Amino acid sequence: MITDILFNLVSYRIDEEPHIRVDQAKCASCANRACTFACPARCYEWNQGRGQLDFAHEACLECGTCLLVCEAGAVTWHYPRGGCGVRYRLT
Ligand code: SF4
Ligand code: SF4
Repeated sequence: MITDILFNLVSYRIDEEPHIRVDQAKCASCANRACTFACPARCYEWNQGRGQLDFAHEACLECGTCLLVCEAGAVTWHYPRGGCGVRYRLT
């Protein structure tokens, strides 16, 4: 699983305030849901039962891919607050 791989490569200081927000109204009518397969950390998942996008910011790698692939402009993105976020152990 991707979470097992990431466990050995990165660590996090979680910002309780999400640094990424999505506009669920735009997601509901999204044609491709690109974020659900483009995010390397699997932060996005389409919840068929609830008809909405589930998102968890805690595992975010801060790569910015979701912001780029969302053609609907539903993603609002900024870095986590100072001192928070991902730390790469191999850099
Ligand atoms: S690609 Fe954008 S609009 Fe589509 S589901 Fe993801 S965040 Fe929502
Ligand atoms: S910035 Fe990268 S890791 Fe974070 S949610 Fe977006 S695609 Fe996933």
